Amino acid sequence: MKTVIINSESYEKHITGDGHPEQPKRVVVIKEKLKKRNDLIWKKPDLVPKNILAMTHSKEYIDNLNSSFPQKGLRFLDGDTVVSPASKKAVFEAAGSTIRAIDGIEKNEFKNAFCLTRPPGHHAEKNKAMGFCCISNAGVAMNYLISKYKYKKIACVDFDVHWGNGNYNVMRGSKNSLYISTHQYPFYPGGGTDKDKGDFNNSLNIPLPAGTTSEQYLNAYDRVLDRLIEYKPDFLLFSAGFDAHKNDPLAQFQLCSKDFYEITKRTLSATNKFTNGKVVSILEGGYDLNALAESANEHVNALVEFN
Ligand SMILES: [Zn+2]
Repeated sequence: MKTVIINSESYEKHITGDGHPEQPKRVVVIKEKLKKRNDLIWKKPDLVPKNILAMTHSKEYIDNLNSSFPQKGLRFLDGDTVVSPASKKAVFEAAGSTIRAIDGIEKNEFKNAFCLTRPPGHHAEKNKAMGFCCISNAGVAMNYLISKYKYKKIACVDFDVHWGNGNYNVMRGSKNSLYISTHQYPFYPGGGTDKDKGDFNNSLNIPLPAGTTSEQYLNAYDRVLDRLIEYKPDFLLFSAGFDAHKNDPLAQFQLCSKDFYEITKRTLSATNKFTNGKVVSILEGGYDLNALAESANEHVNALVEFN
């Protein structure tokens, strides 16, 4: 069966202002790279159900978010989270990409999915936008899997170089989820130490120092694989950030593009027997355009190989 890419033109119309690293070109360069392949299918996002948003974020926050998009120009939701008039569609379609991906997998339309979306989501907490993120897209996916399809053991692996405080905040209280993150530490946004275990011992956080090399990273990643094998997830989510790349301007890990194939391959090798290959991956960070396109393509290589 096939790997699907969920994408919408709205993601290119979410304007963040000149010089902002979370820029429209991010999804454009990945799209150009992936469109050259003939082994993928492409679909548009669906609407995200209101009840799923309400399970993921507070009602007050979603109401505020809905009314915070400007008529013209830009508006700052926090120091670095910027929205424009067209951002509203992008924000909700980013969350809705996971809905389309999950429904398609459940209907056997395709085997696994990469949501080529922006804005990213893993810093958005229940009650606030943060770090370029407005909605926890992975949190939406988790709640939809639990609520609609009655999954009981959803693992979310977040390999973005930053700790996904938002994903952690949204998932920590769910007995049906395991959140795992590798990230640079100490670093933005703070937190994500081995003390952050979730409310039900349902989180594994692996902080690593600036300068972490491919070899050091992949050695540490064995802990992720061990925990996944012990957990036996019935569905796998990736918060797929590619800013651990050595060329990334925002962080100081030393991974190369091929490492994202290796990370993905090892994860799927460890979990496919439990998940039956059901995987939804959601784009998070990655700010060097060439490195981002190459790394995302390597990630998709493994999704295709293991579908
Ligand atoms: Zn990041």
